[in-house]
Amino acid sequence: MASVQTKTKPESGVLPDEKTILEFKESLRGELIQRSDKGYDEARKVYNAMIDRRPGLIARCADVADVITAVNFGRENNLLVSVRGGGHNAGGLGVCDNGLVIDLSRINYTRVDPAARTVRVGGGCTWNDADHATHAFGLATPGGTISTTGIGGLSLGGGVGHLTRKYGLTIDNILAVDMVLADGSFVTASDHENEDLFWAIRGGGGNFGIVTSFLFRAHPVHTDYAGPMLWELEDAPEVMKWYREYITTAPEEISGFFAFLNVPPAPGFPEHLHGKTMCGIIWCYAGDLDKAEEIFAPIRSFKKPALDLVGPMPHIALQTAFDALYPPGHQWYWKADFINELSDEAIVLHVKYGSALPSPQSTTHFYPINGAAHRVGNSDTPWAYRDATWAHVIVGVDPDPANNDQLINWAREYWDAVHPYSAGGAYINFIMEEGEDRIKATYRDNYERLAKIKSKYDPTNFFRVNQNIKPQTE
Ligand SMILES: Cc1cc2nc3c(=O)[nH]c(=O)nc-3n(C[C@H](O)[C@H](O)[C@H](O)COP(=O)(O)OP(=O)(O)OC[C@H]3O[C@@H](n4cnc5c(N)ncnc54)[C@H](O)[C@@H]3O)c2cc1C
Repeated sequence: MASVQTKTKPESGVLPDEKTILEFKESLRGELIQRSDKGYDEARKVYNAMIDRRPGLIARCADVADVITAVNFGRENNLLVSVRGGGHNAGGLGVCDNGLVIDLSRINYTRVDPAARTVRVGGGCTWNDADHATHAFGLATPGGTISTTGIGGLSLGGGVGHLTRKYGLTIDNILAVDMVLADGSFVTASDHENEDLFWAIRGGGGNFGIVTSFLFRAHPVHTDYAGPMLWELEDAPEVMKWYREYITTAPEEISGFFAFLNVPPAPGFPEHLHGKTMCGIIWCYAGDLDKAEEIFAPIRSFKKPALDLVGPMPHIALQTAFDALYPPGHQWYWKADFINELSDEAIVLHVKYGSALPSPQSTTHFYPINGAAHRVGNSDTPWAYRDATWAHVIVGVDPDPANNDQLINWAREYWDAVHPYSAGGAYINFIMEEGEDRIKATYRDNYERLAKIKSKYDPTNFFRVNQNIKPQTE
């Protein structure tokens, strides 16, 4: 069987005695879940069923006070600690073996300020929590494309989605965060408070502390002109060549990620296409609706799609459109790269592997990260690939673990073939655990600055179940 790295580092300590654990449990307003508890197996599950870890304790925190208590308990008892937001991370970085999981899922409040066009969300919110809250005010913050994803992990790693070209990455829309640091202290970081920390959390992941609250900028977005447009596989080279030109010059109101996919047997998709491998673009135009038909006219006329489901839809409907296709509990294997340019040679390889998806839900996506995201410099935030055009991801997905070899082998072979045509690093949230060199390649010249800030805020590398940036002193 192809091996996959699902284990974190060995635990840094054994669990303390029962009395100490009981005192900890009683000091929490939320729950402490132990191995002997009925809900333990459910509580330790993460979105990717390929990950199977058995923490010693799971502290499901109800508020900031609980987070402070849990951090102090973990540190004082020398436990390996992982922090769980939405539990979606590809490599399962929200859960650890033997140590303590600090689970933020109960910290899921939202508060929209429609006048200031901001939304404050708890550190354990999913994107659905935020979208639901902002949509009522005709607002949205750029997030991801599946609404069950956690805001915590997605936002701290970058955040790529339908609104990236118009309003930037999610990190470009963070105004402030509240955090609990490794020593248990509570701080706020913004552009005028703890500025070094504020820089680091906008792409540096969960390395610097636990974000208990995000304050985001929100934008006027209510009804998009959006949906999938699909073409036959034999048209894929032509569509990809057209797309690579179009998306680099298109108005910023429009975004569209290119994909190879199998048509799902879902309402809206004609039965004769169910299960068929096709190529497509999932569009989102978030501009003036009166101009939508005009904007889409050249897209529709360049090559008539085999299926065109693009039309007006509430932004929240787009944000949740693919949730049912990807429920939690499937096996997922991820590989990724940033891409500057799609050469003719690379297109041949993408068509080859994109036409040979190993299971019905396996897919590959090219997310455009230009437009507004390009107007921020490579060192303005830790996200060091502002000059790249796409965040490319390859995902092997299937409910049945018996098919894991197929998923893993396909993804690895595909990635091996196309990696030489990539920009070098990869979006940190689209990779599993690939080691320090890959993390360094991704942060490029920003790595050293991140390591210095890590030394200041987390000198013992207490927060290390993440795409780890080692303190410079380590
Ligand atoms: C189906 C699916 C679709 C996706 N689509 C997109 C997409 O469209 N765009 C995109 O950008 N990404 C996307 N992703 C990737 C996603 O950004 C990452 O999986 C991300 O890590 C998920 O965050 P989480 O909070 O759910 O994960 P978790 O597994 O809970 O955590 C991931 C990491 O973040 C840390 N973390 C989480 N919350 C906090 C917090 N509040 N404070 C400090 N550290 C924290 C954890 O410690 C861990 O290291 C998708 C993932 C999946 C599974």
